[in-house]
Amino acid sequence: MNTSNESNHQQNLIDRLSNKAGLRGKIDAKCVECIYDPYDDGTWRQQVARCTSYSCPIRPVRPKPSNK
Ligand code: SF4
Repeated sequence: MNTSNESNHQQNLIDRLSNKAGLRGKIDAKCVECIYDPYDDGTWRQQVARCTSYSCPIRPVRPKPSNK
């Protein structure tokens, strides 16, 4: 179930990412819009990294967690 708080959180994240300069933020925002579930395990980057849509044209450039 998607509550309004979750929807707001997801939309705020999409807005923040898509407003960054360049394509990186737009790609990140698209993946958040596509797959991110605040109730699922992991951060949005971890969830996007687990994407199994091999036919998606932006999968090779999807955001992934950094190894810091
Ligand atoms: S790479 Fe995966 S998460 Fe990103 S837009 Fe494509 S299908 Fe969605």
